[in-house]
Amino acid sequence: MKLDVLGDDLPVRLRDGEKAPFVHLDYAASAPCVRAAADAVAEALPWYGSVHRGAGVRSSRSTLAYERARQVVGDFVGAEAGDAVVFTRNTTDALNLLARALPAGTTTVLFDGEHHANLLPWPAPVRLPAPRDPDEAARALDRALAAVDGPAVFAVTGASNVTGEVWPVRRLADVAHARGARVVVDAAQLAPHRAVDMTALGADYLAFSGHKLYAPFGAGVLVGRADWLDAAEPYLRGGGASLAVGDGRGEVTWATGPARHEAGTPNLVGAVALAAVCAALMEADRDALHAHEQRLLARLRAGLAAAVPAAVPVSLFGDDHLRVGIVSVALPGHDVGAVAERLGTDHGIGVRAGQFCAHPLTRRLTGAAAGGECGTGPAALLRISFGLGSTEQDIDRVVAALAAETAS
Ligand code: PMP
Repeated sequence: MKLDVLGDDLPVRLRDGEKAPFVHLDYAASAPCVRAAADAVAEALPWYGSVHRGAGVRSSRSTLAYERARQVVGDFVGAEAGDAVVFTRNTTDALNLLARALPAGTTTVLFDGEHHANLLPWPAPVRLPAPRDPDEAARALDRALAAVDGPAVFAVTGASNVTGEVWPVRRLADVAHARGARVVVDAAQLAPHRAVDMTALGADYLAFSGHKLYAPFGAGVLVGRADWLDAAEPYLRGGGASLAVGDGRGEVTWATGPARHEAGTPNLVGAVALAAVCAALMEADRDALHAHEQRLLARLRAGLAAAVPAAVPVSLFGDDHLRVGIVSVALPGHDVGAVAERLGTDHGIGVRAGQFCAHPLTRRLTGAAAGGECGTGPAALLRISFGLGSTEQDIDRVVAALAAETAS
């Protein structure tokens, strides 16, 4: 099956000497590879050649595969004709690219609920406190954009990497558009879990990473309106981005389209793998995948509530808000780093402890004061995240392990 996960039954030796299949519950950091990605790579490799840089069959076939991948990835997110699909290294790279391509004087408005990748690249950010409900978010965004003079961008995550909550992107995009701002969606955590359509979301730009979408071969993508990207300085300067180079300094004619920002030999393998997963997901019954994930989520939350009294789930928008397969809990009175470590060594379970590159948000969720090292201290949380290939047994194992490790 194309969406089967590789390595879902890895045997690991636990501290007591017993062997158990490893349970990976850290999909939000990096998801495992699925067969579609591995097969696409295996198929491309014998023909591997230079993209856009050769005349032989290897080069022409690789160029075709790369450009086809661009088309498939654009289709996966409902890109419109004329939108640019630029391959990058990951979401961070894609958002940095866009941040550098903004017209001079652009103000970016965002909430403190963002991952650092969508918090730090923007040249002139207006940072609003993470809201406690969508109404508050819409009001705060409207007020902030009303005060902006000149071009504006609203940057928002599709789904939080900390709480798993799905942000009310469409509603906020309507507010932003009514104020003439463009909308960029960080879909790093949304795209792996839900069908993404840029028009339905109201996204002018969208970024996501292959390694979180079951294609861990080093590619990410920025999709969106081409005008600013074509007018901007090239993100990378070099071959491929330059159409003609004269003798004098600055005598360069730069390409337009994705090539403008993709100088250097591109990551064919990453693009092909990412597109293969996009194609497999487009063919899959995503409603059924979603329903399965929601069942696991309900089982996890109920299990934690019943068996792990020490665990306090964190949330911005409340218990009933729609979320993807990500749950983070505070463990007051416990060292979350040490608990996560023991889940690995003693129970064969991989989770993540820390602040997940979202320091302002984790502080807001826990009420912790500013300062402190990432991964320790009162703002540190333990995160359980899952996706394709995750099972009820996986959920039951982590609940039992957490209950054992936090029993006083
Ligand atoms: N945004 C979100 C919501 C994320 O969860 C992450 C990764 N943790 C990123 C951006 C950055 O992704 P990458 O490390 O692939 O650039």
